[in-house]
Amino acid sequence: MTALLVVVAGIVGLAIGSFLNVVIWRVPRGESVAHPPSACPRCGHAIRSRDNVPVLSWLLLRGRCRDCGNPISARYPIVEAATGVLFAATAWWTGPSWVLPALLYLVAISVALALIDLDTKRLPNAIVLPSYPVAFALLTLASWNPGGTPDWAALVRALIGAAVLYAIYLVTVVVYPAGMGFGDVKLAGVLGLYLGWFGWGALFVGWFSAFLFGGIFSVALLFSGRAGRKSGIPFGPWMLLGAAVGIVLGEALWSWYLAVL
Ligand SMILES: [Zn+2]
Repeated sequence: MTALLVVVAGIVGLAIGSFLNVVIWRVPRGESVAHPPSACPRCGHAIRSRDNVPVLSWLLLRGRCRDCGNPISARYPIVEAATGVLFAATAWWTGPSWVLPALLYLVAISVALALIDLDTKRLPNAIVLPSYPVAFALLTLASWNPGGTPDWAALVRALIGAAVLYAIYLVTVVVYPAGMGFGDVKLAGVLGLYLGWFGWGALFVGWFSAFLFGGIFSVALLFSGRAGRKSGIPFGPWMLLGAAVGIVLGEALWSWYLAVL
C-alpha cells in the first residue's frame, strides 16, 4: 500500500514540479500561471505537449529548444525531479494518512517560495496569503481523520502555533529590520500552522533551526568575503528548511532535550 502511494506521489510530484517552474517564473512578474501556454523564452514557439514531459523531454532534447536550438536551463528538470523526490519521500514518511495532502501542499509551496526568494528576495503574497486558508482546510481534514480517531487538539495547537510564530517574527523584524522582511512574517504564520499541528516540540525546533541555519549561513558568507554586512540574504529558504526539520525531528528532539534536562 505504502509502496504504491510512494510511486504515485512521485509521479504526481514530477507533474507538479513542471507547474512550479511556471509559477517560479511568472508569479514574481505578476503574470497568469494559466495563460498563455508555456513557450520558449528565446524564440517564443509554444512548447509541444510531447516536449513537456517532466525531466524526460529535457533529456531527450539534450537541454535544447526543438525550434531554435538554444539551451534550456537545467534548472527546469532539476525542479521537476526534486519535487518528485520530495513528494515520494513525504508519502513514504507519512504512509497512508490524512495529513499527507497538507504536507504535499507545503512541499509544493516550499519549492516555489524558496526559489522565488533566492531569485528575487521576495515571498509573493499571491502564494503566501492563499496558503492560510488552504493549509487550514487541509489540516482540518488531517485533524478530522475520517475513518479514525479525530485529533481536534492538534487543530487548536495549529492556530496557536500560527499566532505565536507570526508574533515572534513580527517582533524580530521590528527589532532587527535589516535581517528579514514582512514577507518572512507572513510566511511564519503559515509555517506556524503546520508546526503547531505537529506539536510544541515541532514548533520550537522549527523556529530555532531556521535561525540556526540562517545564522550559520550568514556568518559563513561573511567570513568567506562573499557578502558584506549589508547584503541581505533571503531568509525564506531557511525558514522552510527549519520547518521541515521541526516537522520530521521536532517532537523527538524535544523529548530528548526534556529527558536530558
Ligand atoms: Zn526556442
